Parts: sequence; C-alpha cells; structure tokens
Amino acid sequence: MNNDGDKQSCISDDNRNHEQTGINPKSIMNNSYCWIDGVVVNPQEATISVFDHGLLYGDGVFEGIRFYKGKMFRLEAHLSRLRDSLAALSIRMPYSDTEIEAALNKLIQLSLREKQDNAYIRLLVTRGVGSLGIDPRSCVKSSVIMILSPLQLASSQEMQQGLKLMVSTVRRISNDMLSPQIKSLNYLNNILARQQATVTGADEAIMLNAQGFVAEASTENIFVIKNGMISTPAITEGVLAGITRAEVIKLADAIGFEVSQTRLTVHDLYTADEVFLTGTGAELIPVREIDGHLVSECPGPIYIKLKEKFECLFS
Ligand code: PMP
Repeated sequence: MNNDGDKQSCISDDNRNHEQTGINPKSIMNNSYCWIDGVVVNPQEATISVFDHGLLYGDGVFEGIRFYKGKMFRLEAHLSRLRDSLAALSIRMPYSDTEIEAALNKLIQLSLREKQDNAYIRLLVTRGVGSLGIDPRSCVKSSVIMILSPLQLASSQEMQQGLKLMVSTVRRISNDMLSPQIKSLNYLNNILARQQATVTGADEAIMLNAQGFVAEASTENIFVIKNGMISTPAITEGVLAGITRAEVIKLADAIGFEVSQTRLTVHDLYTADEVFLTGTGAELIPVREIDGHLVSECPGPIYIKLKEKFECLFS
C-alpha cells in the first residue's frame, strides 16, 4: 500500500474509534483546566518536553482525584498514595502537600466559575526532562502536571444493568516485577487487557495475578459476595490499594459486614451472588456477567446498601 493509502486507512480507523466511543476528539478539552509546574495554562497550549522521561519511559506516577460539590474526595489518601509511589521510584516532589492542595483548589475555582462543581483531576509527577538515555540522574527537576476534566460517567443503563466482564489472558504485573501499588505512568498491561475486553464485546477485563488468582479490573478493584460474605483480593494478591476499595471496606464494616481480604479464584467469580467494581471514576458499579456466567443478583441487595452509603459521603 502506498503512503497515501496508509494515511487514509489511519484516518478512517481514527474515525471508527471515535464513533465507537462516542467521544468527539475536538470536545476532549472542553471544560478542562491545566496547571504545569506552577502555572495555569490553557489546555490547548498545555505541553511538556519531548525529553520528559514520563513520556520517554513512563517514568512517573499519577493520581486520579474526584471532587464533588467543589470539594475534593479523600485528598489526603490520594496524596499519601502519591508520596508512596514517588518514594518507591525515588522521584522528588518539588511541592509540599499544602502547595499541591492550593494548586488543585485553584483549578477547582476555575471549574466552579463555569458551574462545573463535580469533575476529575489527574495529578502527575514525572521524572522530568533528561537526556535520551534511561539513567534518571540526567533528570534535574521533576515535572508536576494537573489536568481538571469532566468525567465520562457510567451511563444510567450501565449502573442499572451492570457491566459485562471477561477474564483476560493478560496478567497483572506481579509484586516481584514492579509493585502494583506504585501508580505509575505505565499501564500497558492494563491497556492490553482492556483492548481484549473490547474486542470480545465485554465492558471491562478482569486481570489475574501471575499465580492465576483474581487481582483486579483494568482500572478498578473488585468485590465478590457469596452467601452474605463480602470478599476482595488482598493487596498482597498484586492489586492497587484503591481508595474507593478502602472506603467500601469501612462502609461495609459500618453496616455489619466484615470484608475478607483474601485470595479469590475465577470459580469464585463465576459462582458469586453479587459482584461489583470500585474506583474513583467508576465509584461502585455492579457486574451482571463474567465470561458468559450470569451473576445471580445485579444490582444485588448488599451492593445497593453500600452504594447508598457511599453516596452519603459526598451528598
Ligand atoms: N486498580 C487500578 C489498576 C486502578 O488504576 C484504579 C484507579 N486508580 C483502581 C484500582 C481503583 O483505585 P481508586 O479507588 O483509588 O481510584
């Protein structure tokens, strides 16, 4: 195929992707606000250096923070997890938590001016600009980036009917390779798993750990309910210590359920009474089907109770 043909096929692929996702590329930056290394910048002009090791090597970490009614949800927990990710990779954070909070609030104020009081903020810290080699010592100063953007919420149909999941053949990176607790800029295995879900007609993928036990979804933690008992994979199974996961464990305790943080098998998923996913973006979202096995109750009674309690935290 000649070059023009190649170009043509790329363009139509792009269009097909956008048709499938319903996302108009021109509107991606609408109602978004950015902050880079101390300066608020127009999203159209928000750029980073091609020498940034975050881009060159995925050498950086991030957090996804949500705000409701103009107030950030569990900011302290997000900053603490960010500090842990940074410490694990020896990336220096040039700002104090107070400075970061002030900058985040500045973006929220801009959002509120446009009557957007509920959205999502991506906070990234990269190793910064350095030479093309991998050696992080060439990076003198970390880059800090904040992007406030509206959330792509799960549709009310998805919330009501639940998600269709598949168990991916792409495994979660294991603890002895790169701790899954580091929320790094490298999500390639999660992306591969999500692509597998899409091509098989599922909404989301479940990733197993290297030993074949359940870890988590590509960007959410997973909870399973059987005979009135709530379980979720233990952190040691190689999952991100999700902030929503921790909230759900506390809420379950408050309504009289102890959550067992344990080892789960695919059999546990196929035979569960209720299954739901948790995450900052997804909040709590029920699951109706896994690899063609219907989950008996979706949305189930325990999920409904937890979801109600969760909503009380910010409404
Ligand atoms: N697991 C992975 C791999 C994730 O990316 C996320 C989203 N950050 C979660 C779980 C859910 O974590 P949280 O509740 O903190 O958003």
